[in-house]
Amino acid sequence: MSIIYVCRHCQQTVGELNHYDTDTSRLGLERLSAEDHREMVEYHGNGDISIRITCEDCEQALTDHPQYHELDFFIQ
Ligand SMILES: [Zn+2]
Repeated sequence: MSIIYVCRHCQQTVGELNHYDTDTSRLGLERLSAEDHREMVEYHGNGDISIRITCEDCEQALTDHPQYHELDFFIQ
């Protein structure tokens, strides 16, 4: 299985852990609230897990333009 980190804003793949065979508790997912977990974590049928985060580019954009924080998508 793979753990794939995807930016929630620009959809780019931020990072990927292949052949991830350790139990998922080490990802810290259990520390997320149920709501965050539902929004951020997606389990795929093949065992892969996508985790939606904010990439560095979008983090920077959000810092520069905090009003965009309310939007799910924006043009950089
Ligand atoms: Zn991004």
